[in-house]
Amino acid sequence: MKTLSICLRAILNFFTEILFGCSHSRLSRPFTLNDETYEVCLDCGKQIYYSAQEMRPLTPWEVRRMKAAQAGEVKVVPIAPSRPHLVPTSERESNLAA
Ligand SMILES: [Zn+2]
Repeated sequence: MKTLSICLRAILNFFTEILFGCSHSRLSRPFTLNDETYEVCLDCGKQIYYSAQEMRPLTPWEVRRMKAAQAGEVKVVPIAPSRPHLVPTSERESNLAA
């Protein structure tokens, strides 16, 4: 009977995580890999990014910003041209240099 209740609890946890999401209550210690510091949820394996400087988990916004910076998406574009194909990038850069 004891085994059965453990099994039922595991099934219940499984569905709870599907329905409500994992609460990530059991986390590994923060570690750094490839210049990224994160904790790993021991229940679902999710990586939770962690700020080594501030010793706290990153907010979703900070994670997005970090990912964007890594992907090279954070570029300062003062004006988004409505028709970018009319102004070649090389031409704009030479104008800026001049
Ligand atoms: Zn989790």
